[in-house]
Amino acid sequence: MSIISSILQKEEFSREDIISLLSIEEPELIEELRSEAERVLYRYRGPNVYFRGLVEFSNICSSDCYYCGIRKSNSQVERYLISKEEIVECALWCAKQGYGSIVLQSGERQDKKFTDFVTDAVRSIKKATRSERLPQGLGITLCVGEQSREVYQDFFDAGAHRYLLRIEASDKELFSFIHPSNQSFDSRESCLRILKEIGYLVGTGVMIGLPGQSLEHLADDILFFKKAGVDMIGMGPFIVHEQTPFSTYKDETRLETNFLNTLKMIAVTRLVLKDVNIAATTALQAIQHDGREQGLKFGANVVMPQITPEKFRKQYLLYAGKPCIDENAELCKACLTRRIQSVGRSVAIDIWGDRRPVQKG
Ligand code: SF4
Repeated sequence: MSIISSILQKEEFSREDIISLLSIEEPELIEELRSEAERVLYRYRGPNVYFRGLVEFSNICSSDCYYCGIRKSNSQVERYLISKEEIVECALWCAKQGYGSIVLQSGERQDKKFTDFVTDAVRSIKKATRSERLPQGLGITLCVGEQSREVYQDFFDAGAHRYLLRIEASDKELFSFIHPSNQSFDSRESCLRILKEIGYLVGTGVMIGLPGQSLEHLADDILFFKKAGVDMIGMGPFIVHEQTPFSTYKDETRLETNFLNTLKMIAVTRLVLKDVNIAATTALQAIQHDGREQGLKFGANVVMPQITPEKFRKQYLLYAGKPCIDENAELCKACLTRRIQSVGRSVAIDIWGDRRPVQKG
């Protein structure tokens, strides 16, 4: 039996085990890793794939992350904020399709006008989407960055029960390298802790292939997810956006390597964290046309179909080559359902699909 095969038989994994798994290059060993991740996924979560309809409701951001296409210093972006009525319309469409959940994502703003807008939108979605099929309304995930405890509590009381806040890099130095000095790892980590204390199901994630990032960093990212006790993970390959300071890394960015390492990260995260929800992110599809299907095959179980109104999508480009910006929500749904079925999985209808139950009225 190979060293890799014997590691794959373990229930608990050391840092060295994780690094060995992430180092695999041979196709037959990668397939062994993939198939074990799929087995663990089926054992802990079954074959269902959960849809979270994604509404990127605003690209206005007060932060300036060095890698991000909608950072505040990018003057080439036309900024927008979708009206509450349009957001609720998207939510109703989502509920009608049986998606079960919606994700409201935007740039980061801490001003009261914005946070009140989000609270109001969450409350309105809950009210509009309660039905016999969905007695608790749509499950709502928020992804609107770092906020105060009070604001997180307001969002929760309004009806949101999941929160995504990506750490992007769990190594403090690497975190500082990719963010301006007014952002800190400690503050991000503290937000994750507060969200958990309030009662949210918490999601985080990292980018894979950042300049200066090693396999050791990635192994530590997985251990960070475990220690933080998160319920959801979203990871994507680093893809350079031309209108950012990180465009200087374009020539040295190896997209195919980042893609493969992302798949390995999904698989190893599945083995280590077992029953968490892991997204097959759109960024995978930006590199390979069947990237999201591959993500599912390596252990992911969540997909986020685009339901942002088409007229806004081109202005929400966090990275280059983002797919699905010209398809309407109907086409996006049909295409994703086909993709999910093509890898032998089924789409869960009218189900929140959480790792553990959270009662929300
Ligand atoms: S990554 Fe998020 S917080 Fe950072 S600039 Fe982009 S939208 Fe703003």
